[in-house]
Amino acid sequence: MLKFNNGKPYHGSSAATGGKLQGATDTDYFYFFCPNCLDKRIMRILDYEVRVEQNENPYNKEFKKKAKKGFTLAFQLYCENCKHTDYVKISNMGWQGGTHAEALAVVGA
Ligand SMILES: [Zn+2]
Repeated sequence: MLKFNNGKPYHGSSAATGGKLQGATDTDYFYFFCPNCLDKRIMRILDYEVRVEQNENPYNKEFKKKAKKGFTLAFQLYCENCKHTDYVKISNMGWQGGTHAEALAVVGA
């Protein structure tokens, strides 16, 4: 089985970080919009990996409702329109609430 990104390190580009990568649902499917194209162009997901999966969620001790596990998924995104490639991660071990503005302030966006 091929390794995600051919085993090379990856990170979201400056086009995607700091709140610039956005998306939305149609039915209950979520789509990412190309951060370079101006018309909310839907990106293809070329690959994904389970980057982290663990039995314990480190935030469970702080909340009454418990997450079943901790996970981080990584996706490789590609725009057929402008050929932009990017990476995004979805995790339940990052922010557990608060506002987007607070999250951006912490990362210095
Ligand atoms: Zn594009």
